[in-house]
Amino acid sequence: MTFIAVAVPVVRADQISAALETARLAKAQGADLVEWRVDSLAQEPGAASAVTRLVQDAPMPCIVTVRHVAEGGGFCGTDEQRQQVWTAACTAHPPAAYVDVELATYRSDSMAGERARDMSRLGSLGSGSGPRVILSFHDFEGRPHGLSARIAEMWADPSSTVSKVVWTARTPRDNTEAFEVLAARAKPTIALCMGEHGLMSRVLAPKFGAFLTYARSDAQGTAPGQPTVEELVQQWDFRSIGPKTRVYGVLAHPVGHSRSPALHNRWFREARVDARLFAIAAGPTWESFKATLLELLSLDTLHFSGCAVSLPHKLNAIRFVEERGGVVDSMARCIGAANTISVAADGTLHASNSDLAGVCDPLSRAARTHGWSGGLRGRHALVIGAGGAGRAAAVALASAGAEVTIANRTTDRAMSVAAELNNSLGLGANAASSIAARSLFDLGATRFDVIVQATSAGMVSGEDADVDPLPETVPLTDTTIAMDLVYTPQETPFLRRAARAGAHAIGGWSMFIAQAAQQHRLWTGHDPKNMDIGMDMNARSRSL
Ligand code: NAP
Repeated sequence: MTFIAVAVPVVRADQISAALETARLAKAQGADLVEWRVDSLAQEPGAASAVTRLVQDAPMPCIVTVRHVAEGGGFCGTDEQRQQVWTAACTAHPPAAYVDVELATYRSDSMAGERARDMSRLGSLGSGSGPRVILSFHDFEGRPHGLSARIAEMWADPSSTVSKVVWTARTPRDNTEAFEVLAARAKPTIALCMGEHGLMSRVLAPKFGAFLTYARSDAQGTAPGQPTVEELVQQWDFRSIGPKTRVYGVLAHPVGHSRSPALHNRWFREARVDARLFAIAAGPTWESFKATLLELLSLDTLHFSGCAVSLPHKLNAIRFVEERGGVVDSMARCIGAANTISVAADGTLHASNSDLAGVCDPLSRAARTHGWSGGLRGRHALVIGAGGAGRAAAVALASAGAEVTIANRTTDRAMSVAAELNNSLGLGANAASSIAARSLFDLGATRFDVIVQATSAGMVSGEDADVDPLPETVPLTDTTIAMDLVYTPQETPFLRRAARAGAHAIGGWSMFIAQAAQQHRLWTGHDPKNMDIGMDMNARSRSL
């Protein structure tokens, strides 16, 4: 079992009651251990009795840590002060379960080094009368030099019980190195990455048999990359993670805003699928996208099984799969972009584009509601915008049999996109069902059954946040189905106008849910258990 530890800093003796309360709360949420971080307290008069109280009254087994400034902690006192704290940790009734000692201190000739080695020898006797020693090494700047040699030295020490190495991840790839350390462990080991890239190493600690992972209590401030105990236990379903847990990602730049992990992990949980999906910042270039994916695929025991791909990597997804001899789905090839990569059991990569289903599924549902017996077939559909989203919407609608017109601010772009799509869909320019191109400003009073707003106008904090790009002359009535692909905010100027006109208005959140549902089907073979996920944005866009 991998324990969940909560580190609680205690600066002064008058904070002990609050610290104990924080530990009680963390225990109630699912933590197994509390680490008393007493770097500053250790330098205060009366530190020994304060630490004795912390240890004796701790609501769960505790670790006592006095981290030196040289190791990124706050302690800059004397050897004697540190030893007083250790003595208190050893002589309390019951004593602390563990004392964390830095490798540099442990191997030094100082008094503290000698005392640490004594403590370690006594703890290793396993009499239950004293704390065990966790030998630790931290690097806040990045991956430590000589990582392998240091960890081998810690493992070789016969007396310390647990080895711990923690560093700040510079890229998502540091996580796999932490997993390799755990896989090679010669004794109970903690290997974690700090910072925004390190979440995977924290959450997947049980998959690789780590001794513990750290989480923060709700009562504490934010620590970059560290989930709360509640998030770890509830959202990540930490207790059910094991060696066979499959790993997925959403690769984008930036990726911090992505709602894909919350959505997919919820669906995995509800379907009892043993898989987790992480936001993975892949950097903006082809090289960083490729390097990140290669690293994730290279570690067999990670069971990396696929990823959602977002901007700016949708083209790179096709290139990567092609380079690796995989299969690119014909629709993804037609749109020229893929947003999903799946890894088959034999390792073959597949690239596909679930944005098609993202557009088509909500529109088809709306068509059924309207009693359109043929669905979207034969319906006149307008797609505003000729970027990536516009292309996906046009292909989705054309594939469903609609008569599609692409209208764009820059007419030439609409023309070239329409020509390209007609070509790849095998629709001759003069075929009855070929995709037409128009200038956005030349639509007059043309009536459409379906209007899809696929420009970035209306997007929060964008240049045209207040803009509704549909010309006033184009009729919007209660027989129109109007869909906006923008999902932040949920009520765009275009959707407000559609709702005022009594049209069937569909927000971009519906597309997001539908395209994610298609990914879930692809990865698990099942429909998501619960499409009505009750997220605020979705609920509000559906009520428009
Ligand atoms: P893109 O490739 O940058 O294309 C932007 C398009 O918007 C271009 O056709 C551009 O016209 C047009 N445009 C921008 N501002 C305009 C304005 N003020 N008036 C008229 N046209 C304007 O972007 P994209 O990838 O297609 O994405 C478009 C939107 O779809 C974004 O807001 C994105 O968030 C959203 N989206 C949503 C989902 C979802 O799951 N709901 C998925 C994908 C995309 P020009 O060619 O004339 O510049």
